[in-house]
Amino acid sequence: MTEEVILRVKGLQTYFHTDEGIVKAVDGVSFDLRRGETLGIVGESGSGKSVTNLSIINMIPSPPGRIAGGEVEFMGTDLLKIPVKDLRAIRGNKISMIFQDPMTSLNPYLRISTQMVETIVLHQDLDKKAAKDKAIDMLKLAGIPAPEKRIDQYPHQFSGGMRQRVMIAMALSCNPEILIADEPTSALDVTIQAQILDIIRGLTAQTGTSVILITHSLGVVAGMCDTICVMYAGRIVERGPTGELFEAPKHPYTQGLIKSVPRLDKASGERLFSIRGQPPNVIDLPDCCPFYPRCDKAMDLCKRKYPASKDLGNGHAVSCWLYTEAK
Ligand code: SF4
Repeated sequence: MTEEVILRVKGLQTYFHTDEGIVKAVDGVSFDLRRGETLGIVGESGSGKSVTNLSIINMIPSPPGRIAGGEVEFMGTDLLKIPVKDLRAIRGNKISMIFQDPMTSLNPYLRISTQMVETIVLHQDLDKKAAKDKAIDMLKLAGIPAPEKRIDQYPHQFSGGMRQRVMIAMALSCNPEILIADEPTSALDVTIQAQILDIIRGLTAQTGTSVILITHSLGVVAGMCDTICVMYAGRIVERGPTGELFEAPKHPYTQGLIKSVPRLDKASGERLFSIRGQPPNVIDLPDCCPFYPRCDKAMDLCKRKYPASKDLGNGHAVSCWLYTEAK
């Protein structure tokens, strides 16, 4: 990882206008991604992590969604301000995505060769023969056995884990600067999950690709990420280097998430901690700390005002009234 910031997200706000009110799915999210860094975005369902990443590549369905504010600066260009055609040239080429279900991205009617070669020819200056050779190499690197034969098969001829490997090969075939992986292993069993994460880690380390890994599981990010952002109700409530965040989490929500990760050094039969209550309804959310109904340390101030982010040094920051001074 270098110090060069490749992606700077500043004050991003993505709102959905519904009959019930305004859903502030992402509300003032800011973070930097450095070259070669793997950054994990963690949170429960509905915390805004996937909407954040769809907003980065400006893929929010509009209506009802709307990017209401903020900047997404990628290598000096604000992706929220450039024409759609320029953005298309960046998506899938300089910024690639893989999703939980590879079938949302793979066309079931086309052979893998057709889909991969088309992508490579579209984005790279290669003829079809060279593009196919490159596709076979990528499938091999992603751990697909006999890639020369399997490249001519259809997606349904692959298992779930193998399809995810194909997606990784496809996503990395254009040497992207950034790979966004949205819950890439949630639909897979635990052994295959570990293999897929290993492949992502190995391939991106080789190519120097920066990664944004979105997951609801702190267990997944622990062994994979340099930095972690914890999201709650559309905002980043804590971010920091992985080791520091696990050893000294500051936000009560992060502390709860860490306590709820199963650990091998815990006595068997011990009950796993779970955070009480449910995530809030983010429709017309008042400007308070949205975690207060679930927080054991909540104070009166928490119900009246949202705490500003407090910089704790070493890239560690938290938004909680236990650390932020009231003005
Ligand atoms: Fe708990 Fe208050 Fe901190 Fe929110 S601001 S996490 S309610 S102590």
